[in-house]
Amino acid sequence: MILCKTVAALQQEVKTAKNTNKTIGLVPTMGALHTGHASLIDAANKENDVVIVSIFVNPTQFGPNEDLESYPRTLEADCILAEKMGADIVFAPTPKEMYPSKDMTWVEVCGDITKVLCGATRPIHFRGVTTIVSKLFNLTQPDKSYFGQKDAQQVQVLTRMVKDLFLPVELRIMPIIREQDGLAKSSRNTYLSQKERVAALVLSKSLKNAEQLFANGQLNAQKIVEETTCMIKSEPLAQIDYVKIYAMPELTPIDGLLSGRNLLALAVKFGKTRLIDNTILEVK
Ligand code: AMP
Repeated sequence: MILCKTVAALQQEVKTAKNTNKTIGLVPTMGALHTGHASLIDAANKENDVVIVSIFVNPTQFGPNEDLESYPRTLEADCILAEKMGADIVFAPTPKEMYPSKDMTWVEVCGDITKVLCGATRPIHFRGVTTIVSKLFNLTQPDKSYFGQKDAQQVQVLTRMVKDLFLPVELRIMPIIREQDGLAKSSRNTYLSQKERVAALVLSKSLKNAEQLFANGQLNAQKIVEETTCMIKSEPLAQIDYVKIYAMPELTPIDGLLSGRNLLALAVKFGKTRLIDNTILEVK
């Protein structure tokens, strides 16, 4: 496996792959890799000749009081896991490499899709995501790029970006990987104290409960949100940012669950750690 730390080195590798007609799969990450990331790399390995994993804690998607500085950086261990899962290239640039000058070009998806849910409390987040993913797409020219359903809103925003800009890449969306007890895998789980880690189980439990309500015929979105909120509030360490249901793909507000895919998404803080999770309630 090759580790590229500069744009120039990566471009050389991409050129070689393209010249030999190899298909390229890209897995963008912020590192501190876990089995959630591993599942994306594994999928990319099965579907492409060359797998590129990017590891970059992207400063432009963090707000002023967020965890940019403390975000875990574990490049050595990440390279070992990436190689084990079939990565051919790890691209781990510095911020200067990705953002060479202060004045820059943004790629931004406008409209409610970036303003609801995480966009409400993290107003610059998605602009940072779409800008860095555009840069990565341009540098790696992937046939397919892999993202996790764990970041459900990110998936919808990137889908819109690809559609609106006619980008020649297929987005492959992989299911949420969880710990055995149900907690969705996240690089931020390492921030949790023992007590918070136990408390955080209320997230997957409340989503399971919502799935059960839905399976039993509850189609009133408000009722599902209320019961899910109530369950999370019963956990004293949980501070809710949002619990919401929107219709996919545009994340439109709804009262009753619409035919098709409806996203039940939540963001909840445990101490200083903000966790997100979601499930899709599909009305056939
Ligand atoms: P991150 O490093 O957190 O920015 O995540 C990089 C990619 O891995 C994103 O597409 C995430 O959605 C995906 N990912 C993170 N956690 C999980 C998980 N538990 N299951 C599946 N994919 C995940």
